[in-house]
Amino acid sequence: MLVNMKEMLIKASKEGKAIPQFNINNLEWTKYILEACEEKKNPVILGVSEGAIKHIGGYITTVKMIEGLVEDLKITIPVVIHLDHGSSYESCVKAIDAGFTSVMVDLTKQPIETNIEVTKKAVEYAHKRNVSVEGEIGHIGLTTGEAIYTEVDDAVKYVEATGIDALAPAVGSLHGIYLTEPKISFERIRDIKNKTGVPLVLHGGSGIPEDTLHRAIYEGIAKLNINTALQVAWAKAVRIFLNENTDIYDPRKVIGAGEKAIKDLVNYYIDFLNRGRD
Ligand SMILES: [Zn+2]
Repeated sequence: MLVNMKEMLIKASKEGKAIPQFNINNLEWTKYILEACEEKKNPVILGVSEGAIKHIGGYITTVKMIEGLVEDLKITIPVVIHLDHGSSYESCVKAIDAGFTSVMVDLTKQPIETNIEVTKKAVEYAHKRNVSVEGEIGHIGLTTGEAIYTEVDDAVKYVEATGIDALAPAVGSLHGIYLTEPKISFERIRDIKNKTGVPLVLHGGSGIPEDTLHRAIYEGIAKLNINTALQVAWAKAVRIFLNENTDIYDPRKVIGAGEKAIKDLVNYYIDFLNRGRD
């Protein structure tokens, strides 16, 4: 069942749990993630970046592919098709018109006024069509750079002015493979959560220690984005398989060599995220 993410995030937030966003890259990844989540009867947010959309073939292909898999695989769990880091109003509109059930607006490289203006416009377009919107304030960069921390006042201003359903603040996490342990500010998460009241999203979830993640969820994170971890695990499994089977050339076997690695990680994250407040 395709849904937007508003209700599931509010519910997760109340229960002190978090919903996973797993990023997809192609048909096989989508299939593995859907199958693993269905097995656990856990709702899932399929994150699709603009780069991944281009790789898959386009906005429409992405939606039709997911719709086809949901039907053929008899998926019964709530599934969100979410544009990850939408870089413009036009990109969000394209995604929504194609059938995405949720979009993220990321205008954090622009001045805050522009970010607010574009996000607000995207929210108006999205909400009329029952699509949820995630916004970002304060820039979440790459692990090769420095982490910054969103000002609480900026977060409040942004949420109030735009009407977004979920907020991704910069609280110390980064995208990619961490070179040093990320310094997540629990205090900042708590303050932003208390003052904005919207479910919070933690980007760059791959590689953050369990204790840190658990505390971040306790303080208000209701959606955890996982991308790099799956890529690393898949690539490692495929590399080993190819090195051990130099005569294999069937692409189904090559890509499929990473199936177990992806499913094991999806299972791990679902179990972890459902621990809740303890
Ligand atoms: Zn991100």
